[in-house]
Amino acid sequence: MFHDRARYQSTQGYQLAPVRFSRLDAARYVVTNDAGEYVVLSRQELVDFIGHSLPPDRPTYQALKSRHFLFDAHSRVALELLALKYRTRAEQLANFTGLHIFVVTLRCDHSCAYCQVSRQAEGRLEFDMSQEHADRALDFMFRSPSPALKIEFQGGEPLLHFERIRYIIERAKAMNAVHGRALQFVIASNLSRLTDEVLDFCRVHGVLLSTSLDGPEDLHNAQRPVRGGDSHRRTLDAIQRARQALGPDGVSALMTTTHASMERVEDIIDEYVRQGFRSIFLRNLSPYGFAVRQRASRQYGVEAWVEFYKRGLAHILRINAQGYPLQEEFAAILLQKIFSPRGSTYVDLQSPAGIGIGALVYNYDGAVYASDEGRMLAEMGDFSFRLGHLSRDSYESIMTSETLLAHLSDTMPEGAPMCSDCAFLPYCGADPVFHQATKKDAVGHKAFSAFCKKQMGVLRHLIGLLEDDAQARDILMGWR
Ligand code: SF4
Repeated sequence: MFHDRARYQSTQGYQLAPVRFSRLDAARYVVTNDAGEYVVLSRQELVDFIGHSLPPDRPTYQALKSRHFLFDAHSRVALELLALKYRTRAEQLANFTGLHIFVVTLRCDHSCAYCQVSRQAEGRLEFDMSQEHADRALDFMFRSPSPALKIEFQGGEPLLHFERIRYIIERAKAMNAVHGRALQFVIASNLSRLTDEVLDFCRVHGVLLSTSLDGPEDLHNAQRPVRGGDSHRRTLDAIQRARQALGPDGVSALMTTTHASMERVEDIIDEYVRQGFRSIFLRNLSPYGFAVRQRASRQYGVEAWVEFYKRGLAHILRINAQGYPLQEEFAAILLQKIFSPRGSTYVDLQSPAGIGIGALVYNYDGAVYASDEGRMLAEMGDFSFRLGHLSRDSYESIMTSETLLAHLSDTMPEGAPMCSDCAFLPYCGADPVFHQATKKDAVGHKAFSAFCKKQMGVLRHLIGLLEDDAQARDILMGWR
């Protein structure tokens, strides 16, 4: 029910800016505004604030005023400043698609149970990207107005089709002589085929490597089977060689959490420290590809993952306090969204969703998808995020396709039930592919959404640490 207009107008000399509030814990609330700023209030402070009865001499009043949650007669440019901050956060939308994923092959030499892309046997060359599709994809990529373009090579195992990678990078650089963009290249690889020839090429062309390291030897080898059973040793050898050729930051690593990882978060983090990494991304398993067929993703619930994450973050903070700088990447993304004036460019947490306008995927067979997860979903027979085909469709028809536009308008959390009232909205996103995969509906009912539970669980925990633990706050603020 809505009260009369007068009820919302100032009775104590101040007006409210648009705000959202949610519980932080049993005693406190998080309040956010559209510029992404937050304050934590007790229940009574919140009631006083909303009821226009907060006395101006209270520190809470000043905190709310300085962060544009209320305006009074002395607020000069507050509303304009709030609008400017909102515009700054939304500015990156104008850049359009910055990430372009080239799936150069679906072939792979590993047979990981949690594989999300339904990899194919090594000899099946029909799962390789053709030169014609690579050329078309490059034409598409340079149509994007983004001043920075990142090409990420995915598979399968992309190094099994290194000749196509070489072709795409050399051609992109030649085309860029006209376009003048900031180009970046990343190969996501298990590194089992990392030859000296590949390393030389990466060094000459400034190509970065991203690999998988799931933890200590027994855990990694159990999760990432390969002929010989020595994926861990091979990965570590390759990481060392890559560091020697490309420098200490030339190779990064990602881990995936399986049921077997759940009790071993400290072991996993310690392995990253042992191998000299300065960052780790504690990632949960996504519900796509073999991960679903083999039911690996159903082996733990989101509540268990959030507990795993909290334990891991506590361990990482201890390691930092002992003098070894190690950053947790999911927390770093959320902290950027909380504190950076521009938010974060991480495509999975955008409004509208980063599908298509944040990332485009050119599949080995010429199909174009709105996100990497969208092509994984297609491998399971759901083509909801397939935008068109490189051979048949133009850039314009794909970027204005009904499929993409409908998903974009559906995936602005500001208009989604529950999200529109949620204090965590400025730090959240929509993840339409996850909701399509789990609920057969791209918007999803957030009360039953594992994505929402994960976001709320991690954000409540982070804000709690920022508020209550001075040492943790100092460390976390260094990750923004
Ligand atoms: S998904 Fe959940 S946490 Fe995120 S904005 Fe929506 S309701 Fe809030």
